[in-house]
Amino acid sequence: MPELPEVEVTKLGISPQIEGKTITEVIIHDGRLRWPVPEKLSRILIGQKCLMIRRRGKYLLFHFDSGVMLLHLGMTGVLRIQKKHEAPKKYNRVEFHFGEIALRLHDPRKFGSIHWHAKKDGPVENFALLQRLGVEPFEQEFSGDIGGELLYKKSRGRKISVKQYLLSGQIVVGVGNIYCSESLFEAKINPKRAAGKISKQSYIRLGEAVRMVLKKAIQAGGSSLKDFVHSDGEPGHFMVMTKVYDRVGLPCKDCGTTIQQITQGQRSTYYCPSCQK
Ligand SMILES: [Zn+2]
Repeated sequence: MPELPEVEVTKLGISPQIEGKTITEVIIHDGRLRWPVPEKLSRILIGQKCLMIRRRGKYLLFHFDSGVMLLHLGMTGVLRIQKKHEAPKKYNRVEFHFGEIALRLHDPRKFGSIHWHAKKDGPVENFALLQRLGVEPFEQEFSGDIGGELLYKKSRGRKISVKQYLLSGQIVVGVGNIYCSESLFEAKINPKRAAGKISKQSYIRLGEAVRMVLKKAIQAGGSSLKDFVHSDGEPGHFMVMTKVYDRVGLPCKDCGTTIQQITQGQRSTYYCPSCQK
């Protein structure tokens, strides 16, 4: 599943090709995605210039004069830029033409989505699917100690495990399952501990760890930017060197203790019982 780093790198990859360009055609090959793709899209978008592409959580926000198109890659979605005359591949669901360029959404399992938020309905942040999201890890609201203080404040009285608390995305977005195990390892926090029992100091370390782990993943993905242009490949997860994730039974890279695997909320968690007390 594309996580925040993949979506961020997608944004970085497609923005230079799309921003400032005008939509000349919209083709919906199969609009039965997680939600039906609005049929009015082509009427709305043709002739409009894409002013800017932003990311909020795992949504890509395409800004136009009359509103914002929200695109989510779901489980298997990939955006590709190709020449319009190149034949679209199988599983191509929707495509947007900008003159000779085609931006194509390839999505075998169809859990992706496309929504339209008209300008007259106010700022896109009001859009229902964005309202529940936590803060952005690289924005001011999660910078320095502020991130850790926020995690601390919101966790008081919470009995759920710190792993599930962080993974929920309600406080800070983008910390998917891999990044959750890795961040807790970097911050030396045991994933089983109750969120409400963890000190402010530990949460400040966790805030820093979250930013560091996500930044590394984005940097790892940066080298695959070319994959978004004229690519036939299937960019999956970035090859991130993990310290604990998927390393059950192997020695901890810091202390040599055997890495453990547990299940929390039906998801695997990996940790070092010595480094993470
Ligand atoms: Zn260790």
